[in-house]
Amino acid sequence: MKTETIAIHAGNHTDETTGAVVQPIILSTTFERMEDGSFREGYIYSRAANPNRTSLENVLAKLEGGVEAAAFSSGNAAGMSVFQSLKPGTHIIAPDDMYHGLRNQLKILFAGILEFDFIDIDNTEVLKAHIKPNTGLIWIETPSNPLLKVTDIKKIVAVAKQHNIKVACDNTFATPICQQPLALGADLVMHSTTKYFGGHSDLMGGALITADNSDWWQKIREVQTYGGAIPSPMDCYYLVRSIKTLPYRMRGHVHNAQLLAEYLNKHPKVEQVLYPGLPSHPNHDIAKQQMTGFGGVLSFCLKDGPDEATRVINRLQLFTKATSLGGVESLIEHRATMEGPDTKTPFNLLRISVGLEHIDDLIADLEQALL
Ligand SMILES: *Cc1c(COP(=O)(O)O)cnc(C)c1O
Repeated sequence: MKTETIAIHAGNHTDETTGAVVQPIILSTTFERMEDGSFREGYIYSRAANPNRTSLENVLAKLEGGVEAAAFSSGNAAGMSVFQSLKPGTHIIAPDDMYHGLRNQLKILFAGILEFDFIDIDNTEVLKAHIKPNTGLIWIETPSNPLLKVTDIKKIVAVAKQHNIKVACDNTFATPICQQPLALGADLVMHSTTKYFGGHSDLMGGALITADNSDWWQKIREVQTYGGAIPSPMDCYYLVRSIKTLPYRMRGHVHNAQLLAEYLNKHPKVEQVLYPGLPSHPNHDIAKQQMTGFGGVLSFCLKDGPDEATRVINRLQLFTKATSLGGVESLIEHRATMEGPDTKTPFNLLRISVGLEHIDDLIADLEQALL
């Protein structure tokens, strides 16, 4: 089946008892035991499994082309479960442009438990030089946040395979509509479903999707069950509902982002636009090979520096000044401020999450703000 069909059907089934076309929300935390001690559909207690979470995990797995998915209460909880599933002392290689929330999670919560290096992962020589006997995981994120760097997934997988190292990919910016890392050889995909999957800036969630039912995956399931960072049945329901329109929303985001990137790229006050869909992007060719759309986030740098960035952001009417991405409304933020003192993000950089408003209105607003 094609993506649009999976998105609508794989997370839903008609209720057998009532005939409800939309699967009901099961809030019950506990499930009745039968006389013989068994459970009707295997559900026992909702931390272990809940029907709405099962449906969500089913549609997530199918969309990414994986065998199973695990849903979490946030993207960071999903990432945390990956790191907690590793043997203490395992070495992780991660990109220097990694999402700052997860980079800080490693640095603050896993110091002394895991080893990690944040490197220029796209440079194969640098990558090979950092591989150690205890390296167990290469973490990638593509396109990256907020520099929109594109990592060649197949190239990383080839190096990892030679050394028996697992590869996990944060696919939040692309979504499976634009990129499917498992098909390119990755072992695991991670998402902040807070972003495009939710799509309306009103729920938090995270997900992991596995290429195979490995021992590692069983360990991750254990962390989910015993760690307990699970989403509520309500949030699972809302996610399943939002996912039904994900393929169509992504088309809109990609369309608007491309046109906005092209507009900004020609603007005399703009020093540089970072968007994989522009031929001027350093990894445009790799992006074209491994993506079916270039996503809905772009960053741009202003020639006149940080003060000009502040002036522009404050003149915008339609773009809301807020962090996060993936919602139907356009957001803009001064990323370096958000990331704090150890940021490597340029201070004249603004990041836009391009929403689904009409592109003419978005361009008109930027036009007046850049005057
Ligand atoms: C938002 C985000 C996360 C973290 O997800 P939360 O749902 O905020 O915990 C991880 N990676 C990327 C790329 C993100 O944008």
